[in-house]
Amino acid sequence: MKYMTEFRDKELARGLAQRISSLLDGSASGGYTIMEVCGTHTMNIFRYGLKGLLPANLRLLSGPGCPVCVTPTSYIDQAITLAHVPGVIICTFGDMLKVPGSESSLERLALGNVKVVYSTADALSMAEANPDKKVVFLGVGFETTAPTIAASVLEADRKGLGNYFVLCSHKTMPQVMRSLVEDVGARCNVPLQGFICPAHVSTIIGSRPYEFLAREFGIPCVIAGFEPLDILHGIYMLLGQIVRGEARVEIQYSRVVRPEGNPRAQAVIEEVFEPCDAEWRGIGVVPMSGLGLRGRYQRFDAALHFSIPAPKTREPKGCLCGDMLRGVKTPPDCPLFGRACTPSHPVGPCMVSSEGTCAAWFKYQGESK
Ligand code: SF4
Repeated sequence: MKYMTEFRDKELARGLAQRISSLLDGSASGGYTIMEVCGTHTMNIFRYGLKGLLPANLRLLSGPGCPVCVTPTSYIDQAITLAHVPGVIICTFGDMLKVPGSESSLERLALGNVKVVYSTADALSMAEANPDKKVVFLGVGFETTAPTIAASVLEADRKGLGNYFVLCSHKTMPQVMRSLVEDVGARCNVPLQGFICPAHVSTIIGSRPYEFLAREFGIPCVIAGFEPLDILHGIYMLLGQIVRGEARVEIQYSRVVRPEGNPRAQAVIEEVFEPCDAEWRGIGVVPMSGLGLRGRYQRFDAALHFSIPAPKTREPKGCLCGDMLRGVKTPPDCPLFGRACTPSHPVGPCMVSSEGTCAAWFKYQGESK
């Protein structure tokens, strides 16, 4: 496959892994710890067996870059509450169905008014086709999905649709990365030395929003693509900075990501959303790490329109997803992993999502590194 096989060449991968090992030979007796923030990186690291190629003194942590995994229980409970309101149709991407709330999941409810859609355009069509119903789209995700959801709000506004709503749980990456370094890293003693930054998110926001990590905290960053050679090359670039004592933001994925990002997508987000505090599963409320609807678009806000009461939430018993998302623990540390919790019977969201750390370890037999 043109432009894919080139980035999956085994010999080149081995060569890059060798260069990474040479870079780390004889340095830092305590080893190195870096985090790949994005769930797609996590999945591909396991899928292509990259951990097995890397030296023993390099530790890769998985971060909070899976949108399903970081969606808090309270949000699922709100969606379930809305699904029981007469006349409401819930539209969602399929990966949200199995995510457990306090008592149930949207899938277990087995209600006919919960519809899986493939785009926000489908949800808008649903609203147009059902003027006597209220259609609520579950707005979950990072900067990558925010532009399409913002565009759906603009379209609903243009068409004068009064029965289309978004239940917002949009999140932004740079702010949670600050929290990981500033708060979580210190509190949980996670010695983070560098970030592999999320690629999809960076196509939208560019590289500049990560610069504070290098400037304020001396933490180098590399935006890497998703193919095996991209990831290994990104790790090589990141470790090069660490070994040389440098800290800046580099773009490995330069065939897609520009320093300025995608200004048109940014403008759509800016028009519809404004920053707000957001709750992240396992991390808590991170200041200004969410996107809420701006004043003139708040009539599309499902939480405001339906005045959903704050639910009393209960986390899945024994689940350590919060620790996974902070990089504090790995799936084999969880006593439920592979026993009570499997992809067919997930206890927590990190086993539900195809990008979840627990699902990746389970599927590809992740070594306990
Ligand atoms: S293995 Fe299951 S229960 Fe344990 S942390 Fe992962 S998702 Fe939660």
